[in-house]
Amino acid sequence: MTNILLVDDRPENLLALEGILGPLDQNLLYAHSGEDALRELLLHDVAVILLDVQMPGLDGFETAALIKQRERTRHIPIIFVTAISKDEQHVFRGYSAGAVDYVFKPFNPEVMRSKVAVFIELHEKTEQLRQQAELIKEQELAELRRESEERYRFLAEAQPDQIWTAMPNGQLDYVNQRALDYFAASFAELVETGWTQVLHPDDLPRTIERWQQAIDTGQPYENEARLHRAADDSYRWHLTRAVPMRNRQGELVKWFGSNTDMHDQKRAEESQRFLLEAGATLGSSLDYRTTLAAVAKMMVPRIADWARVDILEDGKLRTLAVEHVDQGKVELALDLSRRYPEDPDAAQGPPHVLRTGESELATEIDEERLAQLAVDDLHLGLVRELGFQSYMCVPLVARGRVLGVISLVSAESGRRYGPDDLALAEEVARRAGTAIENAQLYREVEERAQAAQVLATVADGVFLVDREGVVRLWNEAAEAITGLRSDDVVGRNAEEALPGWDHLAARVPVAGAPGPAASETMPFELASGERWLSISGVGFDEGTVYAFRDLTEERGLEELRQDLVATVSHELRTPLAAIYGSALTLARDDLELEEAMHRRLLQVIVEESARLAEIVNDLLLASQLDSGRLDVHVERCDARELTERVVEAARTHLPDNVTVELEAASDDLLAVAADEGQLRQVLGNLIDNAIKYSPDGGDIRVRLEPGEQYVRFAIFDEGLGVPKGEQSRIFEKFYRLDPDMTRGIGGTGLGLYISRELVRRVEGRIWVEPNGGRGSVFYVEIPAASEPLRVRKPRNKARASV
Ligand code: ADP
Repeated sequence: MTNILLVDDRPENLLALEGILGPLDQNLLYAHSGEDALRELLLHDVAVILLDVQMPGLDGFETAALIKQRERTRHIPIIFVTAISKDEQHVFRGYSAGAVDYVFKPFNPEVMRSKVAVFIELHEKTEQLRQQAELIKEQELAELRRESEERYRFLAEAQPDQIWTAMPNGQLDYVNQRALDYFAASFAELVETGWTQVLHPDDLPRTIERWQQAIDTGQPYENEARLHRAADDSYRWHLTRAVPMRNRQGELVKWFGSNTDMHDQKRAEESQRFLLEAGATLGSSLDYRTTLAAVAKMMVPRIADWARVDILEDGKLRTLAVEHVDQGKVELALDLSRRYPEDPDAAQGPPHVLRTGESELATEIDEERLAQLAVDDLHLGLVRELGFQSYMCVPLVARGRVLGVISLVSAESGRRYGPDDLALAEEVARRAGTAIENAQLYREVEERAQAAQVLATVADGVFLVDREGVVRLWNEAAEAITGLRSDDVVGRNAEEALPGWDHLAARVPVAGAPGPAASETMPFELASGERWLSISGVGFDEGTVYAFRDLTEERGLEELRQDLVATVSHELRTPLAAIYGSALTLARDDLELEEAMHRRLLQVIVEESARLAEIVNDLLLASQLDSGRLDVHVERCDARELTERVVEAARTHLPDNVTVELEAASDDLLAVAADEGQLRQVLGNLIDNAIKYSPDGGDIRVRLEPGEQYVRFAIFDEGLGVPKGEQSRIFEKFYRLDPDMTRGIGGTGLGLYISRELVRRVEGRIWVEPNGGRGSVFYVEIPAASEPLRVRKPRNKARASV
């Protein structure tokens, strides 16, 4: 039905129009004013308007003008109906206001009706046309949609990924062939059983939650999950993405999704992460057992349901660690390996891997294989109980040697090992091997460091000469003994670096293997003079290690001992001969001795006996000094009085051409802190020497000089003197300037040695200087006495040197 709007302020007019138009059987709308009419037009679609011209408020023309202004109503035909103004001016105004007709009352109802009918028909035709156009447009759109969808699917089918679309509620409405092939399912099956069936159970909750969230919010969806591949009954990691498509109104109309296989990438990432963690674990211990146990632990359950590490010990494979998530099963496995130890000659499994150093991979452990592995029915039963599905075995290699085997088994998880898994396991084993190597190296380095420390602290000189003759090591003792610094020796050719080595090397005995090697003692010319070194060598792969010891002092001692025998026996023989000769003469009956001669001989016996006693005393004293057994009683002594007495004693046996004078510098009290008896012996010895070594006579002066902390004794003689180079050596034991006694002056060489040792024991000093042009001056400095005085204990001093 079409609407006709009748506008008149007078109800009777409206009624009249209703009467006229009623037979048209259309829907009549009534308006009592221009405003009313405009309102009606807002609400309804109208085919034609019959508009009264004279109306209070908006009149007909004004109303028409407003209608024509509006886009939606502009095209509606308006028929003015008026009773009054028939003048042209009015009619013109009506047409210009948009009227299609101008009807004057009274009018012919028939004409009016048919006029309106024409407009109604026109309206209906227009409407029909509009609808047709709309229909065509819709069909075209549908066609377009179909085409675009087809194009999309065509594209989707050409994709390497799995492509799908879903309705806004998430239900699949398209899945490409690639996906169907992957799942080995028809579209209907997939929609019916639901895609949740092809998801790995572990990934299901997360996936559902995310998908639901995407559907609820209309936000793009993204998720990583394992999808079941029918071809090999495995799960592969996929990245699923879906984006929503919306219509112009912004309503979600479809989901476009894809699943991209990222299994390899994911595995690589996982392996990488695993290896990283493995690296940290492996580096955390230096004990390889701990390391390997940690490796086994790490593998379960990420790589295996079972992990076992066997290592080679005493030629046999021993299980070091077994890991399983279920402790009960670990017991079972241990029991199994105890009951059925691996056959070392087995053609497969750990012993085989150990022998060949090559990995083993069994993707599928079927019945047949189990039967092969099993030793007997019980074994087969136990192994079956463990539910082994797939296994791999990789060698543990360190320093090019297979030292064990890592076995990995999948059971409960149902996973099947492939080359990727084997590669990962091999990598872990390789890293474990490296860790073990590192631990061993570390230990070696530590041992070496310890060895180096030992070498550094050992008292023997040790050095290493490599096969090229280059010195590679020179320890501290070697430095100390030879005076050659390690920096100057190491890295240089031994013949260049070690003086005389070119001649001596050949004489050094070199043993073939570690063990006692005979050593040779030979002289080496060093910066400090000639040193006697006892040296031996041991050859090994990289060269020869030499060890040496400085025997110069031992050798000196040896010489000393020989000297002692020579000197002392001579010294003893001289007085003995005199005593013996005198005694023999006295005993002769055939000889009538004069009284004077008789006395003279007895005198000789007394004097020589005293000398013998003196020599023996000196020997005794020297030995006491050497062994530290000599007691020293330090006390306050009067230096002047003490010296006076020594000088007096000396004067009793002065040769004719020698004099002894005592010069005290002042009358000061010269108190010293010394052992009185021993100080007297020192001074006596020095004055006796002065007399003895003045064979051509001379004046001897003994001078006392007070100092701040010391009292100095000086003995001047005009005798033989001491050459500069010998000034310190004469204080050595048994050392004599003229051992052959060319001047006929005997002695043991002990006097000055004893003097020096006694002076040292009271913290004094003794030395010799030339006495101008002739003779020498011996100086002794003894600490001045200051209260209170300590009593010095004897101390141990093995050997003395100046
Ligand atoms: P001895 O006199 O028994 O040989 P000493 O130890 O007293 O032993 O002296 C060591 C050496 O020092 C002597 O052999 C001598 O050659 C030298 N000597 C000691 N005193 C003097 C001196 N006053 N003048 C020259 N030489 C001396």
